[in-house]
Amino acid sequence: MTAGAARAVAGRSVARVVAAIRPLEGAGFAGRRPFPAGTPDQVEPFPLLDAVGPADLAPGEAKGAPDHPHRGFETVTYMLAGRMEHRDSQGHAGRLGPGDVQWMTAGAGVVHSEMPEAHFQETGGRMHGFQLWVNLPKRDKLVPPRYQEFPAARIPVGRSGDGAVTVRVIAGEALGARAVIETRTPIQYLHYTLRPGARVVQPVPPSYNAIVYVFAGEGRVGSRPVHEAQLAVLEADGEAVELAASDTGTLEALLLAGEALREPVARYGPFVMNTQGEIRQALLDYQAGRMGRIAG
Ligand code: MN
Repeated sequence: MTAGAARAVAGRSVARVVAAIRPLEGAGFAGRRPFPAGTPDQVEPFPLLDAVGPADLAPGEAKGAPDHPHRGFETVTYMLAGRMEHRDSQGHAGRLGPGDVQWMTAGAGVVHSEMPEAHFQETGGRMHGFQLWVNLPKRDKLVPPRYQEFPAARIPVGRSGDGAVTVRVIAGEALGARAVIETRTPIQYLHYTLRPGARVVQPVPPSYNAIVYVFAGEGRVGSRPVHEAQLAVLEADGEAVELAASDTGTLEALLLAGEALREPVARYGPFVMNTQGEIRQALLDYQAGRMGRIAG
């Protein structure tokens, strides 16, 4: 079963496959971090990808991240299971359930909290989601904060002709579906689901860095075997990425790609800037309350 681009497109090869680490083990958050971990540096333009869960949480066990700042980049939260509640210093509050996406441009700075929704916290249940960080180019690091929030029903879905491949298009374009979220730099954020034995060829511009994070099942990226909790980092040696599911199970993976910014990266905790001086300024601005605080 084949879907996607013209057969003649050159598929990229895999540079390396790395296993996600569990940086938060013991803290009750049950997360996985595909990167940075075991990779020589960040995968430009993505400073971080965290998986929350998958975990089946007992009542009262769900954890979150109380008030903290961000500056200089974007956070993209994508939920598959469970419920989160976000509040921030701009007066924004939002709830995220299965399939919902929040694309937050922190820009000049926000203080926000990312907590399990109160009812979910009480009852417990399955929690699974992702947070991707998308770096901002120097020209955009201090733009006003912006939110784009889309419920699951508004995220475009592409399908192969035979129905064996579906893709939820959070950013970019795939199988005839085009994202509704606007990005400040060219990004592809695609959640692919491949039935057993299915295969797809996703065009990815040669100038983009590309990674594939497999979070369910097993199969191939290019010619390289991959399984759950593995990240494949692709070479820039082709115009497409080929994904294939094994014959025995459904493969689920995030395909993330974007243009490298080719600018210096200075990073400290929740700030991603270009210089150490800008990091110091971010700390000063946060401590002085210039990124605001969460009301009430
Ligand atoms: Mn945050």
